[in-house]
Amino acid sequence: MRVHVIGCSGSFAGPASAASSYLIEHEDADGRLWRVLMDLGSGAFGPLQNVIDPADLDAVIISHLHPDHYLDVTGLEVFWAYHSRTDLGTLPIHAPAPLPDRISGVLGRNGHIPDGVSTAPFEYRALSDGRRFSVGSLEIQTRAVLHPVEAYGFRITADGSTFAYSGDTDDCEALDELAVDADLFLCEAGYIEGRDDHFTGVHLTGRRAGEVAARTGVRQLALTHIPAWTDPEIPLAEAREVHTGPITMVRPMDILDVSDRRTARNER
Ligand SMILES: [Zn+2]
Ligand SMILES: [Zn+2]
Repeated sequence: MRVHVIGCSGSFAGPASAASSYLIEHEDADGRLWRVLMDLGSGAFGPLQNVIDPADLDAVIISHLHPDHYLDVTGLEVFWAYHSRTDLGTLPIHAPAPLPDRISGVLGRNGHIPDGVSTAPFEYRALSDGRRFSVGSLEIQTRAVLHPVEAYGFRITADGSTFAYSGDTDDCEALDELAVDADLFLCEAGYIEGRDDHFTGVHLTGRRAGEVAARTGVRQLALTHIPAWTDPEIPLAEAREVHTGPITMVRPMDILDVSDRRTARNER
């Protein structure tokens, strides 16, 4: 399993990165490559096209309905609905239930079907806490996390490897359950200690992300969702104070390998 970082800027698109979006790929035993796009925040639909033809996506999963995680679904919808190819079929989008209304609102439409298009380009499937579903060889589990709106984190497994994504969240029990023993834990660290202490129930800091990684035994911690006004070295240093395992700060176009523990052990 591989995770391509399409955009990782926290809260809004920054000068060097689009907002949150990650492409997850896994090749199954028959050599079929499965591709799931996780979040499609503001500015991310552009750089996505440098990595993949969006027509090749198998599914989209959206963690929550803040613009920095879903807004560019509007671009994807125009792409999918009006594409000159006629064989695109219907793209499954797993997201909080209000997503189709939000997209229609942004696009100024009544209903979910674009003008002049006979069928909806997307098949929306509402997320809920504890839901499990699969996209090809990828098994996906959702947990509701702690954020001011309905929000989910994901735990994705394939071939014995586990990838966990915090979505946007503050510290909560569900986050630990998502992360436990993950081979790669992609975790937001949108706040920093001290400066953002007056906000609760919104975001993690580098320290809180590091503490989750330390107590859940993740193999690799990757920090993300740093807003443009924050020096990424600060949350990185916070995490390193409390977690001794490998920690990286993701950058746009990074490709993260999610290998299982058995493979890692064999390499040593
Ligand atoms: Zn966000
Ligand atoms: Zn958010």
